[in-house]
Amino acid sequence: MIRKAARFSASVVAPVAWRLYLRENARKWPRGAPCAVTLSFDYDYVSDVACIPELCDLFDSFSLPSSHAVVGKYVERFKREHARLVDRGDEVMNHTYSHPDGPLNPDEKFNGLGAKRMEEEIAGCEKACERVLGVKPVGFRTPHFGNLNSQQVYGLLEKRGYLYSSSTNLTTTQSRGVPYHPNKRDFRKAGAPHYKLLELPVFSCPTHYYPVFDSWHCFESKAHYSHGDFHATFAKALRLAERYGSYLNLYFDPRHVAGTKDLEKILETAKHSRAWVATSRQVAEWWLK
Ligand SMILES: [Zn+2]
Ligand SMILES: [Zn+2]
Repeated sequence: MIRKAARFSASVVAPVAWRLYLRENARKWPRGAPCAVTLSFDYDYVSDVACIPELCDLFDSFSLPSSHAVVGKYVERFKREHARLVDRGDEVMNHTYSHPDGPLNPDEKFNGLGAKRMEEEIAGCEKACERVLGVKPVGFRTPHFGNLNSQQVYGLLEKRGYLYSSSTNLTTTQSRGVPYHPNKRDFRKAGAPHYKLLELPVFSCPTHYYPVFDSWHCFESKAHYSHGDFHATFAKALRLAERYGSYLNLYFDPRHVAGTKDLEKILETAKHSRAWVATSRQVAEWWLK
C-alpha cells in the first residue's frame, strides 16, 4: 500500500517539480546539440577497478568518451588498468587518495577531515595520477558526495587549480540543470560571492525527483531494479535534458552496471541521440569559455 502510494505520488509530483525546477537555458551546446551528456564512473571498491577492461571495450565499440573518478591508492595498486583509461583518451577525475568512509579508509568521513587532511587527500590522488598515469586531474568528486560534500573543499580545489567539482545532487542545488559557480558561503547556491571553478551537479532521478540518478538508487535501493528499467530511466532523463537544454551528468558504480544489457542500451541511446556526449572536463572547459 505504501509502495503504491509512493509510486503514485512520484508519477504525479515529479513532472510538475521538474517543470518548475528546470528552465530553458539560453546557453546553447556545441554543434547545435540540444543538451550535453556525461557518463562517469566512481571506483570505490577493487571490484569496480576490475571492471575497467570491460568498460573500455564497451565504450570503444561505441566510440564514446567517459570520465572516471579514481582513488589514488588504487591507481598505485592497479597501474595497468588505470593506464588503459588514459590510453583511450578518457578523463581521470580526483576521487581522493584513500576514499574516506570506504573500504580503504572506513574510519574517516570526508566532511569531517579538516582542511589539512582534506588537502592531503586531494594532493595524494593528484600525485598518484601524475606519477603513475602522467596526467593531472582538473575535476574532483567528493567521496559519497551529497551529504558528505563540504564547503571547505571548494576553496582547496580552487587554490590547486581545479576547473570543477562534481559533488552535488542536482535538485538540492540552484543549478537549474546546468553547471554553475558555487557561492562562497553555500555551495548549493549560485550567485556572488562565488568561486571561479564550476560545480557540475549529478542529475537527479527523473521519476523520483529528489534521489540522485545513480546505480545505487537503481539497484541497491531497488527503485528501478527490474531489467530494462535502468535504461528506461536514462531515456526519460535524456528527454528532460533535451527539452530544457540541460546537462545530463551521470555517474555509476562499475560493479553494478558493467556487463549489463542496460548499460549497452544506454550507450546506444546516447550515441544515436542529438546530445553532445562529452567528458566532465570538456563540458567545464566549454562552459568556462
Ligand atoms: Zn566513491
Ligand atoms: Zn528513481
